[in-house]
Amino acid sequence: MHLLLASNNQHKRRELAEILARHTLSTPEDHRLEFDHEEIADTFMGNALGKAKELHELVAETQSGRPPIVIADDSGISVDALDGRPGVWSARFGNSPERPKLTDTDRNNLLLETLENEENRDAHYVCCMVAYLGVDRYYIVQETWHGEIARSPSNGGGGFGYDPVFRLPDLDVTVADISAEEKHRLSHRGKAARRLASLLDGLELDDGLELNDGRAGAS
Ligand code: IMP
Repeated sequence: MHLLLASNNQHKRRELAEILARHTLSTPEDHRLEFDHEEIADTFMGNALGKAKELHELVAETQSGRPPIVIADDSGISVDALDGRPGVWSARFGNSPERPKLTDTDRNNLLLETLENEENRDAHYVCCMVAYLGVDRYYIVQETWHGEIARSPSNGGGGFGYDPVFRLPDLDVTVADISAEEKHRLSHRGKAARRLASLLDGLELDDGLELNDGRAGAS
């Protein structure tokens, strides 16, 4: 099945292509579609649905036939001692007019500084995934992955984003220290994507929904 991912985030693309290896995944860039959704909702579900709907509409406007299934992922990290922040604002945590775009390393250091005197390190990742087939037909799943915020960042090179400071107490390592396969097996994104894929496997697509290859604008 061809799935069009409503994101140009290369980390998410790589992880989802590995997890959903049975399917063909493309992103707006592959089709020379300019897609930059502004995340305005205050829930993961609102943002995931907003991204998927906007890209589906964009494809419908720029190609003939039915658009492909659009999938979207909105994710983040929620820290108990911060009342669930940064949560949906994880990608923007610490941004300010003076420093509008921090690096992942800056953000991880800021999180560690914020929690410097905090004993409660409990945190969880959240991933909401949507498969969008049309205005009245979409599927939503949301999963979590529980862990702790480490006391210092790991030097492990795996993962992305907050992975160097997200510690798995059972394994006594951070996510940056485990293999991609192990991350996919355990992670919020792995669980959500597998659940969404099994929903898609069970779909009846013979009710007039013709899936083309989604190559709108591609040469
Ligand atoms: P968004 O879904 O585009 O709003 O971005 C989610 C943000 O949450 C990313 O930029 C990362 O900072 C963080 N995030 C989500 N999933 C992960 C993960 O698996 N590892 C590390 N950071 C993540």
